[in-house]
Amino acid sequence: MFNLILFGPPGSGKGTQSEKLVEKYGLVHLSTGNLLREEITNKTPLGLEAKAFIDKGQLVPDEVVIGMVDSFFEHHKEAKGFLFDGFPRTSAQAEALDKLLELKKTSICVMLALSVSEEELVKRLMKRGETSGRSDDTNENVIRARITEYHNKTAVVADYYRNFDKVVLVKGEGTVDDIFRSLCAEIDCRI
Ligand code: ADP
Repeated sequence: MFNLILFGPPGSGKGTQSEKLVEKYGLVHLSTGNLLREEITNKTPLGLEAKAFIDKGQLVPDEVVIGMVDSFFEHHKEAKGFLFDGFPRTSAQAEALDKLLELKKTSICVMLALSVSEEELVKRLMKRGETSGRSDDTNENVIRARITEYHNKTAVVADYYRNFDKVVLVKGEGTVDDIFRSLCAEIDCRI
């Protein structure tokens, strides 16, 4: 299996690049943000619980997210590899993911980390909010809260994988195609 984490702050382009990467490499896309939004749309108990956190720009509790990922794996037993987008977002999630992959006798091959300046992030998220219908993209305070959560809880996830020498930084500014080409180059020499 080839398992990849696409990492970076909110607005760094993970969703856009993930769509292109899963198509090119035939990976299964696991976006916890998308899974949570689906739960919200379907008004499930999990969705209702998650919405309260998401609307404030806070992370959803680890046990909720980890349970959701576990059940996603149950439904994708034939996958030849996963692209993790927006997960893991805390050290506890990273440890849980390692354990789940170990059960499948596999592991993370590489973490590709997109770097984008903070002003560019806010600009992109506000712009996305005009059309995405995502309530967490329309309020600048919520956007800033998400970036703060990223610095406080998520940035350490890169340190976790750096210990295993699995992190590669990729410039996340430029055209979508340029960034895609940089990501593909890093994958092609590892796959
Ligand atoms: P973005 O990276 O642009 O903020 P996502 O779609 O990945 O967007 O996530 C939207 C929101 O969903 C996050 O702000 C957070 O509240 C919640 N979320 C998504 N993934 C996780 C996760 N792995 N752990 C905790 N909360 C999450």
